[in-house]
Amino acid sequence: MKRLTAVVMSAVILFSCLAVPVYGAGKAENACSAACDCGFSPMVYVAGLGSAKIYSNYGTENEKLIFRPGTDSVTDIVTKLLPAVLRLIITRDYDGFCDALIPALNDMLGDMAMDDNGDSKPNVTALESGLPTDGTHGVNSDYYFGYDFRTDPLVTADKLNAYIERVKEITGHEKVNIRASSMGGTIATAYLKQYGHGNVDSIVFQCSPILGTQVAGELLTKKVVVDKDAVVRYAVQALPELNNDFVEKSLKALIWLLDKTGVLGGLADVVNRLVPKLIDRVYDEFLMPVLGKMPGIWAFVTDDLYEQTKAEVLDPVKNASLIERLDEYHYGVQQSLAEIFSSAKEDGVRVLILASYNMQRTPLVESYKNSSDATVDTKYASAGATVALLGETLGEGYVQKVNDGHNHVSADNIIDASTCILPENTWFVKDMLHCVLHEGIRDFYRWFYEGEEDYTVFTNAKYPQFLQNDPENRRLIPIE
Ligand SMILES: [Zn+2]
Repeated sequence: MKRLTAVVMSAVILFSCLAVPVYGAGKAENACSAACDCGFSPMVYVAGLGSAKIYSNYGTENEKLIFRPGTDSVTDIVTKLLPAVLRLIITRDYDGFCDALIPALNDMLGDMAMDDNGDSKPNVTALESGLPTDGTHGVNSDYYFGYDFRTDPLVTADKLNAYIERVKEITGHEKVNIRASSMGGTIATAYLKQYGHGNVDSIVFQCSPILGTQVAGELLTKKVVVDKDAVVRYAVQALPELNNDFVEKSLKALIWLLDKTGVLGGLADVVNRLVPKLIDRVYDEFLMPVLGKMPGIWAFVTDDLYEQTKAEVLDPVKNASLIERLDEYHYGVQQSLAEIFSSAKEDGVRVLILASYNMQRTPLVESYKNSSDATVDTKYASAGATVALLGETLGEGYVQKVNDGHNHVSADNIIDASTCILPENTWFVKDMLHCVLHEGIRDFYRWFYEGEEDYTVFTNAKYPQFLQNDPENRRLIPIE
């Protein structure tokens, strides 16, 4: 009899546990999602731009992947444009070239455009992450949150909140650890603004444009420049990503040769002469319609260019509600970061901000000399460091701007972290490409996540404020 009762009881418990993912939030979960005592809050990974594929006419026979475009559609556009490029070289007919270029670009990416309020077209779908159902968790397993990068971060923050609530429910934890990668930082900060930090145990911002990135505003306001040396640096630094030593060395040699023989310089001159002739039409007929009303892209615009960009790009009447929405992020989140962070820290939320420096950033705009991780400027990813231009230092006899009783100037005299919003919680990795991780960086994160107190740049001699990246040997070396 006892055995029968036990079998029946087990069946009931098993059934009610299985029922949890199906019925979601209800009384049933209390029966089996008891508090987990593993001692480690589950990890939520808030991914970067491009984490959700975007389709037009999804699920119909006209379904098309628009972001990121596949190799097919890139090859397609190049093939389509080749005759137009040849004609341009012979005839110098720039308008004729635009007549071929612009429809081809719009055909590939035009459906990404948002409407006047900054919302997606109804026939465009992003495959965002659904709510998770598997409660398995630990320091090495992330709950992956992917989203439509075009959308207002404050709208995506609502989805992240639902996601975090579900993770808590299925793991039996009160709080989560967050790792926000790149654009994920704009979503995570919007989440902290909207929902507070009550659900957050600790948070890592990895190469995140939490104060924007200079490219965005400069691109939207046509500050386009092609600097040959910057383009070469940008290309060469990306070569190790190929993970093929032979190809890497051959391409490096080829680039060196093209540079020394003046071919690259000549090309850059041609492009710089072309830019003024093509730019207005490319902007008016392609770039602005596609990017100009995307709140996700606007979240990257830095404060120094924000009002100017708005005045140049948006119509105060037609885009009134979009502007209201953009202001809510820009002023309420990006420019309120100091308050958001300090209130989280006061309540014991542990924060690690990781910014990389010394890489050539996207070279096609005026600020190409900003030190960066190749995508996000160090001063913005670090939430406020004072950073020397690429290849320069802060100057002999430099004295750190804010004296808090600690040294925050890097030994290579490139960074003064004393001006950061959180100087004690911001780490700098030299020569790390945007969000390119290895085991040494993961070890660093693990050390942080598994800790219990507020770890600072002074806690562990292995992880001081300034670290040299050594991807070949998968380690971080203190810069002393
Ligand atoms: Zn647990």
